Amino acid sequence: MKKLTVLLLCLLITFTSGSAEAAPKRYQAEFLSLFDTVTTVVGYAGSKEEFTSLAEDVRAKLWEYHRLYDVYNNYDGLNNLKTINDNAGIKPVAVDARIIDLLEFAREKYALTDGAVNIAMGSVLRLWHDCRVAGILDPESAALPDMDALRAAARHTDINSVVIDRAASSVFLRDPLMRLDVGAVAKGYATEQTARYLEQKGVRRLLLSVGGNIRAIGNKLDQYNRETPWVVGVRNPDRDSGQTELLSVRCTNEALVTSGGYERYFTVGGRQYHHIIDPETLMPSARFKAVTILCHDSGFADGLTTAVFNMPLTRGRALIDSLAGVEALWVLQDGTLVTSSGFDAHRAA
Ligand code: ADP
Ligand code: MG
Repeated sequence: MKKLTVLLLCLLITFTSGSAEAAPKRYQAEFLSLFDTVTTVVGYAGSKEEFTSLAEDVRAKLWEYHRLYDVYNNYDGLNNLKTINDNAGIKPVAVDARIIDLLEFAREKYALTDGAVNIAMGSVLRLWHDCRVAGILDPESAALPDMDALRAAARHTDINSVVIDRAASSVFLRDPLMRLDVGAVAKGYATEQTARYLEQKGVRRLLLSVGGNIRAIGNKLDQYNRETPWVVGVRNPDRDSGQTELLSVRCTNEALVTSGGYERYFTVGGRQYHHIIDPETLMPSARFKAVTILCHDSGFADGLTTAVFNMPLTRGRALIDSLAGVEALWVLQDGTLVTSSGFDAHRAA
């Protein structure tokens, strides 16, 4: 299966705008399959060849993270998150430092959000995942996971049972029934690390989107080659509405990430059940249609979207207000938009 998706990895490069001679031209590349989603790179280069090599560099970096953070597939000669899960209760697994970095990052977000985003919830999330996959394949027999099974799985989600040994570069899940699921943070974290790598290489202007985890480097250039912020749309969670975007945000060196219940879901008895699970109820969180976070770090934004999606509005607002340089947009179930105090200053006209 994975071999097939590797073969399907495709690169589509398009020249997207004309500009004055000798000025860098704007190009766009798209890849399929990285993190099981669509990746888009928009940037500038002197020639198509130059941009192709940059885009290929981005793809290769993201592919490294994809393999490390994969919980479903093994790769020859590589210990990844699946290896850690497979060895739960058995033995510590020696891993690349980038796995330890992600797990420590996720643990900090768990503490910051009082457990609203918990990567040790894999056993619970797997039950929902399996029902979703089965329910999408065969809608007639779609069913919810059994609540007793969810409660039993929830007894194996204590993040303190994730034993990280930085010196030995190893990870051990002390609880044999615990599984890690980094779906809430890995895409944004990998996007951020890739953007930092590009910045270090001297890339000054680029827009990277990994399945809607968006990270801007610098500004874009307008038609007169003047610097102007990248403008990024926030998708309307109401997909039946004729308006595909709710609003647009200006981003300079910033990340914009959205979590919503409108993309990955299945239907049981006419009701939709999505993929963001409230650790308290063990059910899909029903408070909002979507939550968007704007801040300077795409990994932080990704972790926060999932956490804030799981929190009552007042608690989420208090958390966002306490964090410097972080803004949020909530779309309530009736479509009402609620923004944090500084969000509107970033809105594009
Ligand atoms: P998306 O992956 O669609 O961008 P999110 O960033 O919100 O959306 O991540 C959702 C994924 O995170 C789920 O598919 C699941 O793997 C995982 N997840 C769901 N609920 C939680 C939770 N409360 N804590 C940690 N991870 C979660
Ligand atoms: Mg997230």
